[in-house]
Amino acid sequence: MLPDVQNLIELQKAEREIFRLREEIAALPKRVTAIEAKLAGTKAVLEKAKAAIKADDAARRKYETAIQDLQQKISKYRDQSLEVKTNEQYKALLHEIQFAEQEIRINEDKILELMVNSDVRDKDVKAAERELKEETAEIEKEKAEARARTAEDEKQLTEWNAKRDGLRSAVNPDLLRQYDRVAKYRGTGISEARDHKCLACQVMLRPQTYNEVRAAKEVVFCDSCQRILFYDPSQDKPVEPVVAPRRRRPHPKFESSQAWYYRPSFEEQGEVLLAYINDGGRSRRRVFDLATGREIGEILEREGEYRLAFPEDLSDAIRLNGSWTEAELDEWGRELPMVILDVLHRDLDLARAESDARSHPKDEAVASEHSAAS
Ligand SMILES: [Zn+2]
Repeated sequence: MLPDVQNLIELQKAEREIFRLREEIAALPKRVTAIEAKLAGTKAVLEKAKAAIKADDAARRKYETAIQDLQQKISKYRDQSLEVKTNEQYKALLHEIQFAEQEIRINEDKILELMVNSDVRDKDVKAAERELKEETAEIEKEKAEARARTAEDEKQLTEWNAKRDGLRSAVNPDLLRQYDRVAKYRGTGISEARDHKCLACQVMLRPQTYNEVRAAKEVVFCDSCQRILFYDPSQDKPVEPVVAPRRRRPHPKFESSQAWYYRPSFEEQGEVLLAYINDGGRSRRRVFDLATGREIGEILEREGEYRLAFPEDLSDAIRLNGSWTEAELDEWGRELPMVILDVLHRDLDLARAESDARSHPKDEAVASEHSAAS
């Protein structure tokens, strides 16, 4: 990858991180404010509950004073009743006394009502006090966390800012201007190209453009969004299997410098794969275990092309598709790579299905496959 492009990828990463950290730092005081607002709400509830108790106490004192006044009145009426001259005057005083006693009972009922209510008031105050205590502890914890997080964020931000400045000074100024210009309008200035597409704007790239990005010899831009393009080989799709299922099986070429075979049994080894290489009038044979792909025995070399040199091997063998150089075979050592073994297994399955189709042409499913294949 071009160093400028590599630096721009890093720069974009740094800028994203700087953006995220700034957002987080800005959001933390807002969170504390929200918790404090909730705390103020609980404080108000507590004050209201306390004020209600105060008001009740005042009312109670008022009723008690009223009762005292009424009792004084009654006592005064009683004194007067001793001195009255007429029956009418006496009756009038008695009536006043009864009225005052009735008033006393009304005030006593009100005091009783307040006493019953005071249990509820006390509970309200206690609940609000408990909630306030819990919330205060919580907010202290949250504030401490927010302070620690902000400090850590600030530290990281400083580091990322330094990293960004370093990266910016390392990139070609013209390219950096183009990057900044696109980033300003589109949020990002560089995009990965994958599967013939610009991943940022999702527009298909021209084959020429895509190849240039992959070659990484010069800086390439997306025609659609103007972002600088890069290609990450590690994101490449896995290679398509050599023999795709449900497609017609290609038949091995008769004349070939290399040939692969399957045999159901081989020198008491069970199922094996045989690889033959013709090389200037001589032929070499390698034998591999079908299940594990491990090489069995040593390479055997004989005079003549393999069909003439190893006729005893081929009587009950199935020819398979396979074409790799002898250098590759040497490189694999004494074990076939899993992907190669898979290709050979798949081809063997197809070869067997083909042979079944030929021997049971009336079988409906196989017959249709056979006709599709021929
Ligand atoms: Zn694009």
